[in-house]
Amino acid sequence: MKLKVLGCSGAELPGHNPTSFLIDQRVAIDAGSITSMLNEKSQWKIEQIFITHAHLDHIKGIPFLADNLIMKKPNHKVDVLSIKSVIQAIKENLLNTSLWPDFTVIPHPNNAIIRLAPLKEGIPFVSGQLTFTALKVNHSVPAVGYLIEDTAGRTLFFTGDTGPTDRTWEMLHGRRLNVLIIEVSFPNSMKEMALITGHLTSELMSIELKKISPPPERIYITHPKPQLLPKIKKDLAGLKMKNIWMLKEGQSITI
Ligand SMILES: [Zn+2]
Ligand SMILES: [Zn+2]
Repeated sequence: MKLKVLGCSGAELPGHNPTSFLIDQRVAIDAGSITSMLNEKSQWKIEQIFITHAHLDHIKGIPFLADNLIMKKPNHKVDVLSIKSVIQAIKENLLNTSLWPDFTVIPHPNNAIIRLAPLKEGIPFVSGQLTFTALKVNHSVPAVGYLIEDTAGRTLFFTGDTGPTDRTWEMLHGRRLNVLIIEVSFPNSMKEMALITGHLTSELMSIELKKISPPPERIYITHPKPQLLPKIKKDLAGLKMKNIWMLKEGQSITI
């Protein structure tokens, strides 16, 4: 499985794009930068978008993608998938005819551009050669991470936005993770802020890693606040771990 990083930043500034990954060109995970980082033809290839949570930096590409599709590919449909509470938040607050047209009924309710699909936590969902399992994490709003497996048995877990959690790692217990993408939003000096907002620092992240059994083979850090990047990098280097890297925008990872 090949994962392309469209955005892995905890904020939006030039050169720093909000969360979006693309797997095998047709499946996106989070929609923070699908329309700003993909050209039109690549956008047309997206069939499914798995959403971790309804914070704007993870969903803001959905309405723009729908608008782009209706212009030239009105017959192309995109499934937006997540747990029920996340789907509800998107429907009520984003595609609600007030902020943006409701593309879940356009051009017709039976034939809409965007199809919202609820997932059940912990129940694997098959998408072509891939299987997605949503597992709840600990954020300030309902949020999940995704366990993603391909038919060759290669396995990735992406935390999305999360603070410290025991439950998520317990649910993953015994699973061999080839790759873990875990968030670190703040430097160690902002631990209190991280805990209040449901995020991690490098130090908190390193405590999370000790809860994961067996330990992941490769670890990538996502979602740093770009304004605090030098401090976060310094904290991370201080952990002196060999199998851990900062995720980079534009990077492709083979899992
Ligand atoms: Zn968030
Ligand atoms: Zn975020």
